[in-house]
Amino acid sequence: MEICNGDGCCLLRINNSNNFEKKKNIDCSYYCKPNKCPNYMECHNICPQCELDAWDGICCYCEVFLEKQHEKIYLSRPRTR
Ligand SMILES: [Zn+2]
Ligand SMILES: [Zn+2]
Repeated sequence: MEICNGDGCCLLRINNSNNFEKKKNIDCSYYCKPNKCPNYMECHNICPQCELDAWDGICCYCEVFLEKQHEKIYLSRPRTR
């Protein structure tokens, strides 16, 4: 049996929604709740803290999305050399 250390890894996302249930194979003695992504106004995602931690504090959607934005900015910038 895994033990949750309070970072929300015991939470299981239901059908890609913002609803979570507790995983049955993790023993959690905390009252873990998912957190809003700091970019919630944009992505409307809530994630367990462990998921946010895995992506530098934002949700995986924002990670991919922002990464793409960065790429675009980078590509559209004229090369200096
Ligand atoms: Zn937990
Ligand atoms: Zn997000």
